[in-house]
Amino acid sequence: MRLFYTCKQAHQKLSENLDRELSLVERTQLKIHLGMCDSCTNFGRQMKTIRMAMQAMAKGKSSDQDEP
Ligand SMILES: [Zn+2]
Repeated sequence: MRLFYTCKQAHQKLSENLDRELSLVERTQLKIHLGMCDSCTNFGRQMKTIRMAMQAMAKGKSSDQDEP
């Protein structure tokens, strides 16, 4: 097992984070990587923005899909 994520792994975890909650270990390792990597920090920020935009779109448009 590797102590630190590579950028590729960090990107993957950032994407996975949109679909599921990461484990404590995953989150810690990701945090460590983001602490030393600006490009992945930016990537994470973009993913968050995209996610929020997608949620806003889902709410605004296809309201009959996920609504109870
Ligand atoms: Zn990185």
